[in-house]
Amino acid sequence: MQPQAAYLVEDNGDLWLTEDEREHMKLSYRIRDVLFDQQSAYQHVMVLDSYDFGPMLVLDGVVQTTSMDGFIYNEMISHIPLNMHPEPRNVLIIGGGDLGAAREVCRYPDVGRVDLVEIDKLVVDACLEYLPDVAGHLKDNRVYYHFTDGVEFAAQCRSDYDVIIVDSSDPVGPAQALFERPFYQSLHNSLKERGIMVCQSQSPLFHRDVLGQAFGAVKELFPVSHLYTAVVPTYPGGLWSFSLGSKHYDRLRPAMLVRGTRYVNRDILHGCFRLPEFLQQFIASL
Ligand code: SAM
Repeated sequence: MQPQAAYLVEDNGDLWLTEDEREHMKLSYRIRDVLFDQQSAYQHVMVLDSYDFGPMLVLDGVVQTTSMDGFIYNEMISHIPLNMHPEPRNVLIIGGGDLGAAREVCRYPDVGRVDLVEIDKLVVDACLEYLPDVAGHLKDNRVYYHFTDGVEFAAQCRSDYDVIIVDSSDPVGPAQALFERPFYQSLHNSLKERGIMVCQSQSPLFHRDVLGQAFGAVKELFPVSHLYTAVVPTYPGGLWSFSLGSKHYDRLRPAMLVRGTRYVNRDILHGCFRLPEFLQQFIASL
């Protein structure tokens, strides 16, 4: 199949995906097969079968999640807030079109409703069809899909949710506004009086500005704010951050952790909040 974009290149008969959105660093993955390749109204959506990471979702040439390591990120963005809130009935997921986070949230029997707000239906369709290790065959009648802009959706919510998870792509294109203060204010307004939000806040090594903007806004808006980290091999530099804001609760409830997780356990629940010195100093400066 002829490569459809500059970041998918044939080299000596091999097909390579090269993430080249960084000025001084490129990440390349050898590709076995192109499983899905379409342009939506928002982005170039591909699912590529890679040698080392299996099938991977790629949006505008940037790897979003893979069969090999998607579980790390999807468990970390879901189980931490769901083990801090004692009764997470109503959950909002913004982004999350690969359905990995939604699958983890649906493991909790207490959850009664999940509103998933994904701007691009093509991502959901592609992942259900070609990325079963991440999307599964999510047929859970608690999940309600809204194919619209998460910024607009959150702006019209009022105290509706116990937990909000912002599982966004990188801060470019439609995802840019998901890293700005007005959006975090909307999230605060959308949470019930004891609600908890978490968002992926990029790399503490390569995206310090974005992390500072996101966590700085969370720290300003919420009485309880924590940064936690995990290593996701396919993200630039590996180390990745999550910004959590809570209106009330500030204690983890490991007894609530459901069985069958592959990354999160009681040690991780507590340990992920322990930060290296450079990061502690950075967030203290915000
Ligand atoms: N787990 C991956 C990560 O951490 O990079 C990404 C998860 S998912 C693929 C990110 C999703 O956010 C994409 O499907 C994208 O279409 C969606 N998205 C981007 N901007 C959005 C917006 N303004 N409203 C709703 N969804 C948006």
